[in-house]
Amino acid sequence: MTTTLDSAKIDVHPELRALRDGPRRMVIGDDVVDAADGAVFPTIDPATGETITMVARAGEEDIDRAVAAARRALDGPWGALAATERGRLIGRLAELVEAHAEELAQLESLDNGKPFAYALAGDLALTVDQLRYFSGWPSKIAGATLPVATPDMHVYTRREPVGVVGAIVPWNFPLTLATWKVAPALAAGCTIVLKPAEQTPLSALRLGELALEAGIPPGVLNVCPGYGETGAALVRHPGVDKISFTGSTEVGRIIAREAATTLKRVTLELGGKNPNIVFADADLDVAAANAAAAIFFNSGQVCAAGSRLFVESGIYDTIVAGVVEEAHKLQLGPGLDPTTTLGPLVSDEQLQRVTGYVERGVADGAEVVTGGRRADGDLARGYFVEPTVITGADDGAVVCREEIFGPVVVATPFDSLEELARRANDNPYGLAAGVWTNDVRKAHRFAALLQAGTVWVNCFNQYDATAPFGGFKQSGYGRDNGRSALEAYLADKTVWTNLA
Ligand code: ADP
Repeated sequence: MTTTLDSAKIDVHPELRALRDGPRRMVIGDDVVDAADGAVFPTIDPATGETITMVARAGEEDIDRAVAAARRALDGPWGALAATERGRLIGRLAELVEAHAEELAQLESLDNGKPFAYALAGDLALTVDQLRYFSGWPSKIAGATLPVATPDMHVYTRREPVGVVGAIVPWNFPLTLATWKVAPALAAGCTIVLKPAEQTPLSALRLGELALEAGIPPGVLNVCPGYGETGAALVRHPGVDKISFTGSTEVGRIIAREAATTLKRVTLELGGKNPNIVFADADLDVAAANAAAAIFFNSGQVCAAGSRLFVESGIYDTIVAGVVEEAHKLQLGPGLDPTTTLGPLVSDEQLQRVTGYVERGVADGAEVVTGGRRADGDLARGYFVEPTVITGADDGAVVCREEIFGPVVVATPFDSLEELARRANDNPYGLAAGVWTNDVRKAHRFAALLQAGTVWVNCFNQYDATAPFGGFKQSGYGRDNGRSALEAYLADKTVWTNLA
């Protein structure tokens, strides 16, 4: 039985070969350790279905140790550090991640399945930018002197870190989304227990080691892998002050409910069923190519994927044909093969879920124009699904309403602007939306009308460390990236001094 490592068509970094040497251990304080009870779990290569390596599985006791280490660092060396020095250490971590970019991109590709080149140019570039952007913040975090009405009062605010942060992240962009939590939390002066997704723990563990190598004090960033129950232990823990979560709406609800017991602060970046709208006055070739990229990028495993494609009636057939043509150009394969442009889904569970949705769509009367099946032949061992275009589904059909989280787009025509705005917003989610038009009035009118945390006009899937990202409605609350993210890791303390 072989994994992608045995058949990789690129030079594999020695760190990946070393994964064979045994269980990957977790990072707590200054140590790389086994679980207290010795528990391990497998992380699977989605291109072959084989185990890459076993990974230490954090239980209640490990979470307790990690939270204690985080608290000690907060009350000790990290809390005492000058802001400029904190920024310098985050910058040092950015440099180390950049120096290890190829290795980390290979890890990401192996564990998640995404093409290596995309992991390097996308995930790693965003990760380094994120750390660099937030490395500049610590020295700019400042309170205010307040002009209160009472005479002889000197009143000012201090901006203090909220404390120990539990960061729980998913498997679609493992390192990038971990850093979307870790970088602003570090900049604010918080300490962190990071719980990567059970499907993809490898890059986060390496990040924890690199943070120690960067000279960030032990206990500031602890990395504790495990299943949902490990995350739940973090959410329950009375020593954790804030939970920052990216994942499904279903788990987001559980976390919000559990966090209420200890009144933790919560940031939730959840699912999406995002409208991508093509008007007849758009550049049609560009719009069709990008409508395909909006859903097929990362095999559709993107919370902001353009999964509901609304096309103005007169150009509907042209755009659908263009998306189908793009789907046919994609090369399915393992992430470590340089010819691959579409990797597998992350797990058998995802494969079943995605193909199940396609079957449900057909049962509800929709038509599969291309794709819709698990790939066969050499790829049959892995979790590969062909890029899929569905037409003829009613707006109320399950494939139009629920997040599929795979390379499956549902295309539908529209006639009037009023009808379009109503239909685009008629969904419980509100994460992102795309608008393709050359009419600037239409573009901005729709940017205002759409219930979404991000609207892309004549572009899609754009992310930047400076640009807030998060949801309206059931897509969650709070924002990652930019100043908004930083604010969520800070609390005001008001100091009154009587000068009379
Ligand atoms: P997906 O459906 O995309 O796999 P999930 O929301 O299930 O996303 O998982 C996202 C992250 O949340 C993962 O790290 C997972 O282990 C964690 N998780 C799952 N269930 C819980 C829970 N009840 N409490 C805390 N974290 C959880």
